[in-house]
Amino acid sequence: MEKKTVLIIGATGSIGTQSIDVLKKLDGFKLVGFTYHSNSDLAMKIKSEFPDVEMLSTRTELDEFEDFISHLRPDITIVAAPGFAGFELAYRAIPYTRRLSLANKESLVCGGKFLKERLKSNDVELVPIDSEHSAVFQLIEDEIERIVITASGGALRDWPIEKLRFAKPSDVLKHPVWSMGKKITVDSATMFNKALEVMEAMELFDIPFEKIDVYVHREGVVHGMVFLKDGTVKIHASVADMRIPIALSLTYPERSYEFPKFPNFSSLTFEKLSRERYPLFFLVDSVKDSYSLKTAFNAADEIAVQAFLNEKIGFMDIPKVVERVLEKIDVEEAESVEELKKADEEARRLACEITKSC
Ligand code: NAD
Ligand code: MG
Repeated sequence: MEKKTVLIIGATGSIGTQSIDVLKKLDGFKLVGFTYHSNSDLAMKIKSEFPDVEMLSTRTELDEFEDFISHLRPDITIVAAPGFAGFELAYRAIPYTRRLSLANKESLVCGGKFLKERLKSNDVELVPIDSEHSAVFQLIEDEIERIVITASGGALRDWPIEKLRFAKPSDVLKHPVWSMGKKITVDSATMFNKALEVMEAMELFDIPFEKIDVYVHREGVVHGMVFLKDGTVKIHASVADMRIPIALSLTYPERSYEFPKFPNFSSLTFEKLSRERYPLFFLVDSVKDSYSLKTAFNAADEIAVQAFLNEKIGFMDIPKVVERVLEKIDVEEAESVEELKKADEEARRLACEITKSC
């Protein structure tokens, strides 16, 4: 049987390198190309392991990326680049591939409507990689009552609330469950990551905000649950290792990846989110109905997190900056990807002004 060809957008990152690891262990798939942004040493190392593979730095124009992928035409495109940039690349990739294996959550949050229309008109499949969404994707049925996605609570989940404002980047970057890129690790501690994931789930499963619950689940074993109308709750559990959902996004609907570890647990706990500890999460309600506002929300967080990592603002300033941007921004609902881009740029400009960091 002919091997399925795979392209990775953002191969040098956390999801990207784990995708390469999975590809080395799976039969029937062949890496044909990858992009990277700035880590050219790691890119060269990947190239030396896969000499026939083509690579491209995405520090170029989007048109160059389109030339690159239109020539490779991979069966599967893994989208492992972060942020709004990841959405733009995913959007451009759609006409030249058969399946998007999507790790980038901003694609659905910021551009869900545009992305889904383009997937449909090009008859391209979408399989989520984000672990909670992969979990729900595996459980979902036609008629569901509600879904649950779980959260680790982030690195500061046990800090006294009054101490949170003194947290340093080094404190925040110690994630209790997952090992991930820096941005998403900070977003786990503020629960911004879960805010994105709720909006990602709304798009993926066509489910209203009110029917999605989030619980802090310390053990990191259960990733998602689906409540059915007959009173049944289906629960997905696995070891917290992104290679499992990455592999499934390639092999789906089959499972051929062998991962010998099973979840280890003696108790499972689920706690409600505290508004005081995670104020950023609770801003979802004010942005969820507008792609422009969701894009602004995302852009503001990106700048605020960078400012925090550069020690220009404190940890508890992150939600304040995002809230200020949302108060100040004046955007119309975007009718096109270009208009979304404007919302993204305007929010970045405002966040830069507020944080005085860029
Ligand atoms: P990362 O920072 O480790 O890696 C990002 C990759 O994208 C790198 O290869 C980098 O070179 C490239 N990149 C960076 N900026 C870029 C830009 N402007 N344009 C194009 N490419 C760029 O990030 P990550 O943790 O692997 O996360 C990638 C995406 O996957 C994010 O959207 C994140 O939310 C999502 N995600 C990650 C995890 C995880 O476990 N890390 C889990 C679920 C979802
Ligand atoms: Mg996740």
